[in-house]
Amino acid sequence: MSSGDFNAFEMAQAQFDKVAELLNLDNGTREVLRIPLREYHFSIPVHMDDGTTEVFRGFRVQHNDAKGPCKGGIRFHPQETVDTVRALSMWMTWKCAVVNIPLGGGKGGVICDPHNLSMNEQQQICRGYVRQMAKNVGPINDVPAPDVMTSAQHMLWMLDEYEVIHGSKNPGFITGKPVGMGGSLGRKEATGYGVIYTVREALKELKIDPKDTTASFQGFGNVAQHAIELYTQLGGKVICVSSWDQEDQTSYSFKRETGVDLPELLTITNKFGGIDKAKAKELGYEILPGDEWLVQEVDILVPAALENQIRGDNAEKISPKVKLIAEGANGPTAPEADAIIEKKGIFLVPDFLANAGGVTCSYFEQVQSNMNYFWEKDDVLNRLDLKMTSAFLAVSELAKKKNLYMRDAAYVIAIQRVAQACKDRGWV
Ligand code: NAD
Repeated sequence: MSSGDFNAFEMAQAQFDKVAELLNLDNGTREVLRIPLREYHFSIPVHMDDGTTEVFRGFRVQHNDAKGPCKGGIRFHPQETVDTVRALSMWMTWKCAVVNIPLGGGKGGVICDPHNLSMNEQQQICRGYVRQMAKNVGPINDVPAPDVMTSAQHMLWMLDEYEVIHGSKNPGFITGKPVGMGGSLGRKEATGYGVIYTVREALKELKIDPKDTTASFQGFGNVAQHAIELYTQLGGKVICVSSWDQEDQTSYSFKRETGVDLPELLTITNKFGGIDKAKAKELGYEILPGDEWLVQEVDILVPAALENQIRGDNAEKISPKVKLIAEGANGPTAPEADAIIEKKGIFLVPDFLANAGGVTCSYFEQVQSNMNYFWEKDDVLNRLDLKMTSAFLAVSELAKKKNLYMRDAAYVIAIQRVAQACKDRGWV
């Protein structure tokens, strides 16, 4: 989403341009990689429950598929813009490349607000989306997944429509399906756990024992909750989390020096990751303004809510105690803030590496679906750990060797891999 003048696609292109320069990429390769290969813009008519017909706008952007079928979620959001979808599809290309899975980058979106739509209306949007896209998506060309405000149920409706149109069973068409209906065990933990696998490796590099660390999180949704679960298991202590308050239309930070008790906090959290203020107070949390999570005196910061949160205007306020930032969210840090973080000497695990656990597990789901043979949860998580750890090590080794900021090192590896694939195919 755009907030104010922020344009995610311009930010994604600025990040790309910087690394293209660093790599001295030729102009043809730059042009192929800085804009999506294909875009679909379409209308989805829906018979509303009140008897009227409403038309929703949908997008699917396929940024690059040189390394394999495109992969990426479909978002439902009232402020969805094609530029956000473009940026996210580009980040998906780098994300798949940095963890070295044979997939490209795609993303989709529909301008709609599920809060105001019945399940019947949402089902029609899902089926309408697939009717528009059925020829251009599928297990061998573009594999969607859930994203902001879409769920396993939405994926199952989309799969059903796709299978009806194609007259065959194609469970590998889409991921994020319910477990038992083609979904993978471990998917709900995958992104948050993946973040912490990289935190664990980063702390090893910094020679810090996780047991001696504290952390502050922005967001308390799927990513943050599972990241907190694993981080706490490693012995770390979370002292602050923030979340969005739907009623007050603002965010709050919840701070408790003795540490967050995850199961307890979950009992007062709604399904959108919103924490109940009054009940949190009863449990001994201090209720602070939403942006306080960023200025806490902790060792680790994990932005796990939304984009453009650490900016030129607030990055200086990060405590000198902070040694590590692991980006659970997509695009939480603006380029001006990167310069400040780098100057402060904070170790950064960039978004498309830190949160790649989700797409890696989606890839595992696709493999399992295509084989129609499903793995045990431990098996999934062990494979995930292996992929995330080797991706982290490759990036941090390059960063050390070439004295690069971690985000740039991750981009160098990802862009080089995709550029090489385009070259090997004879595209450039
Ligand atoms: P979610 O909807 O489950 O949770 C979002 C959380 O952020 C909620 O707790 C919400 O209250 C909070 N929040 C929203 N606005 C806020 C604000 N202004 N200040 C503080 N908190 C705020 O979402 P999620 O699945 O946990 O995803 C979080 C981020 O991670 C997003 O950027 C998403 O794109 C990214 N991501 C998610 C996955 C995944 O597998 N879920 C994978 C890769 C990246």
